[in-house]
Amino acid sequence: MNAVDEGRKVQEASTSAARQADAVESLYAKRVEIYPRQKIGSGLAWFQKWRWAAVWATQIVFYGLPWLMWNDRQAVLFELTARRFYIFGLVLWPQDIVFLTGILIIAAFALFLFTAVGGRLWCGYACPQTVYSEIFMWIERRIEGDRTRRMLLDREPMSARKFLLKAGKHAAWIAASLWTGYSFVGYFTPIRELGAELLALQIGGWSAFWILFYGFATYGNAGWMREQVCKYMCPYARFQSAMFDQDTLIITYDEARGEPRGAGSRKKSRAELGLGDCVDCGLCVQVCPTGIDIRNGLQYECIGCAACIDACNHTMDKVGLPKGLVRYSTTNAMRQALDSGAMWQRVFRPRVLVYGGFLLAITIALAAALALRVPLKVDLIRDRGALAREADGGQVENVYRMQVSNTTEARRAYLVSAAGLPGLAVGSETRFEVGPAVVASIPLRLLADGEQVAPGSHKVTVEVRAEDDAGVVVRETTTFIGLRR
Ligand code: SF4
Ligand code: SF4
Repeated sequence: MNAVDEGRKVQEASTSAARQADAVESLYAKRVEIYPRQKIGSGLAWFQKWRWAAVWATQIVFYGLPWLMWNDRQAVLFELTARRFYIFGLVLWPQDIVFLTGILIIAAFALFLFTAVGGRLWCGYACPQTVYSEIFMWIERRIEGDRTRRMLLDREPMSARKFLLKAGKHAAWIAASLWTGYSFVGYFTPIRELGAELLALQIGGWSAFWILFYGFATYGNAGWMREQVCKYMCPYARFQSAMFDQDTLIITYDEARGEPRGAGSRKKSRAELGLGDCVDCGLCVQVCPTGIDIRNGLQYECIGCAACIDACNHTMDKVGLPKGLVRYSTTNAMRQALDSGAMWQRVFRPRVLVYGGFLLAITIALAAALALRVPLKVDLIRDRGALAREADGGQVENVYRMQVSNTTEARRAYLVSAAGLPGLAVGSETRFEVGPAVVASIPLRLLADGEQVAPGSHKVTVEVRAEDDAGVVVRETTTFIGLRR
């Protein structure tokens, strides 16, 4: 018996043990350890390459972004304590929550659109659970060996060798998890300062808590729970079926072509034996990270990773049959035997175009709003302690306080003026400066001619504009109280 057969026997034995346990206890599905096979032929298979490309792309961005600098500060930083979000040249304040909401709406629409078109593309290629599971499985393979070796190792009694292998694997997983936690917290606290604090063992309590929390979640989800997260914990897996229809791309087994399945014989052709194209090699099941058999039809456990397509294509190549027994297709294409042209026509159906149109419109609106955004905010508050008083020369004085937010990253000078009443003028400083990304509290005195202003309240406009750019201007309306004489 070769190692592969032996491995298969071990997997079958553990599956059957779990089935027996399930028969006794139906409320709890006992977890069967899954040993997904990674190696299919030599080198990476087609969809495997795409999965690894997604791993590299997402992880270069995730681990690299906090280290990128912009204007002498971290390029992407969500500084919650200062209530400021930096995204490259953009500085967002709490008042800009609408832009963050816009970004989240775009992300949600993009997810809906891609799900309607390509099914579980997100789950199969870009979801952190998939990506970290892929990385953790890679570490596992480097330390414990391939699928068969791992299955045999797990059945071995504890020994010094087994202990060292397991300890090495968990140490590597924990190191990767803690680095992930550190990178994650580095999006909310300047990562260089955080690193220096860590090295000096002077890290703050909350930073330490979140590094450990995020690290622990990564270790638990990618190292231990893996497919269980997708099967039982992920809310997206539950509601995404609402976005599926009969023309959504899914990974399917071509039953009409594949059945009846069977190994075949060297002496007779498959047609003579009355067999379909599935040679029942089991490779599609061995590579599946969720341990399902795609030949049983669409199952909610399928995360759309396409590993079974690679596996089956490899087998088809080996036995000299056309590829595509397991492939991306749609329910309608399978039922109605549509060719790929007709299938793709339906993939880009009206519903998808409407989704795409909405996504484009929201993206353009957000980009325009960001481009037209004035990097100055002014809140004008009346001084409640002194509504109005008579000043020198028969003038009426009203006092206010301005909260001026300079949302740029440079110190800026501003000019303030007022209009709306005859002879209305600013009695306090008409020029002031505000530091970069600072909110300054500026006192404002407005004076008007007491002879010309009737008693009661009047609407007036206060204008604050940047000295160096007339386009950066904010006008606020407020009330001016006239006095009875
Ligand atoms: S059935 Fe295929 S696509 Fe679905 S999770 Fe398993 S290997 Fe991936
Ligand atoms: S890999 Fe293809 S041929 Fe082998 S069992 Fe799966 S569907 Fe059948």
